[in-house]
Amino acid sequence: MGSHPLPEPVTSAGRDGLAALLARPAGAIVALDFDGTLAEIVPDPEQARAHPGTVPALARLAPHLGSVAVITGRPAGVAVRYGGFAGVKGLEHLVVLGHYGAERWDAVSGTVTAPAPHPGVAAVQAELPGVLDESGAWQGTWVEDKGRAIGVHTRRAADPQAAYDALRVPLTELAARHGLIVEPGRLVLELRPPGMDKGVALADYVRESGASAVLYAGDDLGDLAAFAAVEKLRAEGVPGVLVCSGSQEVAVLAERADVVVDGPTGVVGLLEGLADRLSS
Ligand SMILES: [Mg+2]
Repeated sequence: MGSHPLPEPVTSAGRDGLAALLARPAGAIVALDFDGTLAEIVPDPEQARAHPGTVPALARLAPHLGSVAVITGRPAGVAVRYGGFAGVKGLEHLVVLGHYGAERWDAVSGTVTAPAPHPGVAAVQAELPGVLDESGAWQGTWVEDKGRAIGVHTRRAADPQAAYDALRVPLTELAARHGLIVEPGRLVLELRPPGMDKGVALADYVRESGASAVLYAGDDLGDLAAFAAVEKLRAEGVPGVLVCSGSQEVAVLAERADVVVDGPTGVVGLLEGLADRLSS
């Protein structure tokens, strides 16, 4: 199966990253987005399934590597199901990080685990009534407990914008006291832990596994955080390769990539190419 030539990265950092991965695969991580990268984008997201070549390619490649992880905004269990990742020979150590890393499925256990919510969420919940009271904006505001975050909505206040403006500073201070951040939305201020994104998920996973090289492939704006994480790792001396599963729509990702391939078919070709090289 030597029919999948490896593309040459267009940057020297990318060439270094690929060389490091090939030189020491047992220390390397390959991390991949799901939709648009391992699965074609389809009009109905519930109909998305992994490209038919994805699982065979991953199963060939994974035994040569330190680890393979799928990082997605979807719930981990959904990605496992749509990907067909469970019970596959060769993928005994696959990890799926769902909800941008808040959930984790391990092939070893076949189960999804989710760490306890950030302790700051409960602390903020306890102090919130007092802060709303002091701000004078409590009337009509509605607090939504999201489990891993708290939304303070002002849409039902007598003057929604005034209530929103009055709450912004006190809620930012409250969040900061407990290690949370405020994510502003449309008449909602969401207090949540920092770094629920693919970049944090990837950086944590690389740190945990002590990887000596990393390849990340994605297709969309949400993957920029993971690209930034790889760029930061490179600056710290961990070689990496950035792969864009090409789409004309997300030029900003293609511009930052070392390798652009033609969608999930191209990603499968890249994975097969790596497997060819590592098994020869
Ligand atoms: Mg995607």
